[in-house]
Amino acid sequence: MPTFADKIRLTTMLLKGKEVADQIKIEIAEEVKTIVDKGVRPPHLVAILVGEDGASKTYVKNKELACEKVGFSSTLVRLPESTSEEEVLAKIEEINNDDGIDGLIVQLPLPKHISEHKVTQAIDPAKDVDGFHDVSVGRLTKGQDTFISATPYGIIQLLERYKIETSGKHCVVIGRSNIVGRPMSILMSRSGNPGNCTVTLCHSRTVDLESYTKSADILIVALGIPEFVTGDMVKPGATVIDVGITRVDADTPRGYVLKGDVEFESSEKVAGYITPVPGGVGPMTIIGLMQNTLKSHNLKFSN
Ligand code: NAD
Repeated sequence: MPTFADKIRLTTMLLKGKEVADQIKIEIAEEVKTIVDKGVRPPHLVAILVGEDGASKTYVKNKELACEKVGFSSTLVRLPESTSEEEVLAKIEEINNDDGIDGLIVQLPLPKHISEHKVTQAIDPAKDVDGFHDVSVGRLTKGQDTFISATPYGIIQLLERYKIETSGKHCVVIGRSNIVGRPMSILMSRSGNPGNCTVTLCHSRTVDLESYTKSADILIVALGIPEFVTGDMVKPGATVIDVGITRVDADTPRGYVLKGDVEFESSEKVAGYITPVPGGVGPMTIIGLMQNTLKSHNLKFSN
C-alpha cells in the first residue's frame, strides 16, 4: 500500500504523455478550426495498411481516431497481404499526385515480399509525415527544417512541455533503429532546445551497457525487450524515456499486457522523471504525426 508521500512522488515524477497529448490535440483542433473558418479544406492524412497484423491495425485505428479528434480528414487504404510491391508503389504514386492529400504513411512492418526501403523512398518527401524518407532523414541530420519522425518528435515535445533541462547533459539512447534510436540521438545532440546533449548511442553490440546507463542524465530506451532496463541501471534523478511497447501474454481479458523496455517498479524509485507504458511515449508519437500533417498542409496553403 503506497504511503501519501509515495503517491505525491509518483504524480510529480511521471511524464504523462497522454495528458500532454490531449492538450496538444486541443491546440491543433483550434488551429484546424481557424483554417476551416477561412474556407480552406482541413489537413488530410492517408494511411496504407497492408495485411492483417493485429498491432498495426490498432496503431492505424488510433491514428484515425486522433485525426477525427483534431478535425483532420483521414483515409485508410486497406490492402490484402497478397498485394504485390508494384501495386503498393502504384497506390503511393496515385496519392503523391493527389493535391487533396497532405500526409501519407505506410504502416510498418510490411509483408516480407515488399521492400520497406522501396516503399518509404517512393513517398513524396513533401508528404512524408512519418519522416522515414532519405530526404527527411538527411535534412534532420544536417539540422535543417524537415518532417521529424513521429516518435522522436513526440519525445522532444514531451521533454519541452515538462521543461526538462537537456543542455550539457549526458543522454544515453539504447537502440539504433532508423525510426527511433538513431534520429533520437541526432535530435538530442543538435544545437537547440531540447538538445545540446552529449549523446552516447548504445546498441546490441555495446559492451558493458550498464556503465553507460548509470551515467545517463537522460536515458532513452528503444530496443523492444520488455523490462530490460532495471532500477539498478538508472542514475539517481535521471529522466527515463521508455519507448518500448511489447505485448506480453497475460491472463487478462485481452490475453496480453503492454510492457515497456524499462522495469517501471524498480526504475521509478530511482529516476527523477519517467514515462509510463502505456500512456507515455505512445500518445506523443501520434501527436508527432498530427503535427507533421498540419505542417505539410500549412506549407501548401500558407503562401
Ligand atoms: P528495432 O528492433 O528496429 O531496433 C532495436 C534496437 O535495439 C537495435 O538497434 C538493436 O541494436 C538494439 N538492441 C537489441 N538488443 C539489444 C541489447 N541487448 N542491448 C542493447 N541494444 C539492443 O526497434 P524499434 O523499432 O526502435 O522499436 C523499439 C521498441 O520501441 C519496440 O518495443 C517498439 O514496439 C517500440 N516503439 C514504440 C513506439 C511508440 O510510439 N511508443 C514507436 C516505435 C517503436
